[in-house]
Amino acid sequence: MNENKTPGASGLIMNEPLLWEKGKKGRCGMCVPKSDVPEANFPEALQGEGPDFPDLSEVDVVRHYTRLSQWNFGVDTGMYPLGSCTMKYNPKINERVAATPALAAAHPMLADEHVQGNLQLMYELQEYLGAITGLPAVTVQPAAGAHGELTGMLIFAAYHKSRGSKRTKILIPDTAHGTNPASAALCGYKPIPVKSGKNGILDAQTIADVMDEETAGIMVTNPNTLGLFETNIRQIAEVVHAKGGLVYGDGANLNAVMGIIDAAKCGVDVMHLNLHKTFSTPHGGGGPGAGPVCVTAELEKFLPTPRAVKDGDQFKLEYDCPDSVGRVHGFHGNFGVLVRAYSYIRTMGPDLKKASQFAVLSAAYIKERLKGTLKLAYNMPCMHECVFSDEWQQEDKITTLDIAKRLIDYGYHPPTIYFPLVVHGAIMIEPTETECKEDIDQFIDTVKKIVQESKDNPELLRNAPVRSKMRRLDEIQAARRPCLCG
Ligand SMILES: *Cc1c(COP(=O)(O)O)cnc(C)c1O
Repeated sequence: MNENKTPGASGLIMNEPLLWEKGKKGRCGMCVPKSDVPEANFPEALQGEGPDFPDLSEVDVVRHYTRLSQWNFGVDTGMYPLGSCTMKYNPKINERVAATPALAAAHPMLADEHVQGNLQLMYELQEYLGAITGLPAVTVQPAAGAHGELTGMLIFAAYHKSRGSKRTKILIPDTAHGTNPASAALCGYKPIPVKSGKNGILDAQTIADVMDEETAGIMVTNPNTLGLFETNIRQIAEVVHAKGGLVYGDGANLNAVMGIIDAAKCGVDVMHLNLHKTFSTPHGGGGPGAGPVCVTAELEKFLPTPRAVKDGDQFKLEYDCPDSVGRVHGFHGNFGVLVRAYSYIRTMGPDLKKASQFAVLSAAYIKERLKGTLKLAYNMPCMHECVFSDEWQQEDKITTLDIAKRLIDYGYHPPTIYFPLVVHGAIMIEPTETECKEDIDQFIDTVKKIVQESKDNPELLRNAPVRSKMRRLDEIQAARRPCLCG
């Protein structure tokens, strides 16, 4: 393989000190005319030494931030195969639409009649998400996937309370996302772990053995965190419903099944989606996201308020819902994110289904082409991601971490590693539908090359990354004694 063809083979990454180290007294970023009025006397409280800001020229500041931005890696830089995160490319038209002044600058307290278009957008987004999932009633308030889960658990609790039934437990399979047990516990439920079967998916009998009338329901991540579809979901839902429980579908992995699976027909009662994964809104860095929650018609009355509703030919925010779990976010949720997702859905239309098919095809292709190179965790048809382990590299004392770090040298963001926990030394690859075959082939060739290096030059791998700006960090020290002072 020609090394110069890998995205990370060369670079012009500049060193950059802190602004405080860079500043020189007297330097200035702008020219202000000499004052022709007497200096004002500041009130006492405003006099004295201010913070010691560095003096910098305009080009100093521009280069500083531009260089820092070049240290960053994003999906606009290269392939980002971070399993479970769906780091797909976000079309720029979504940003253009979100920047429309009537949408971007609308004050959240404007009266409904002044923001009819914005309310219509929220209403239609709810309708679209309802149609895509098969669960017709939707709130777009929650700000993240985990926030959607919490909202879902509040709905579970409200539902059981309305039936005069107090339930204390919730079933969480070992292939669920880690936020599931946390969200359930925040809501006061005791998470009961359930083991998946030998082939990485749940079987209905295991659920039947633990489901009882003290249990509020189950939270199923589907496709699960092994990238496998829970094919027994309908039987599982029957078992749970028969004991009066509800089924929560963690839909953060919807990118594998858009327009293909009807969650309601699978027996799911409540499901959140991650707009910042599947619906192509910016993702990561702790920025705003959105985790809308879709529910059956029966559970609609418990959804958070307010929601955008259609009233004749007008749109309004509906607050009058006495059974609602209440507000889970200020104002309208992260409206700017909703606009981007709306734009994505409108531009994609029925091609959403094709996007899912390509996402699955890309992952299946990687699985097939790498299964002789890395040990496949479960040799099952995969959905949007595939999970390997470092079992075959153990004889060379090379770990998942070494492989991930070496990928940085070749210009790839490492995949998700050591997750899901059910696979020892997991390497979880999610290419998404937005990578072309040539780029996927190049990634596969790079992984093969690294695995070859693990035999020929294991020391190199243990020291990787060697070409990046920073070498391997002491992650234990970083976690135990974080240096937060800059
Ligand atoms: C990402 C993810 C979540 C959590 O979503 P956040 O927006 O990060 O809170 C939950 N479940 C699954 C399966 C996920 O992949």
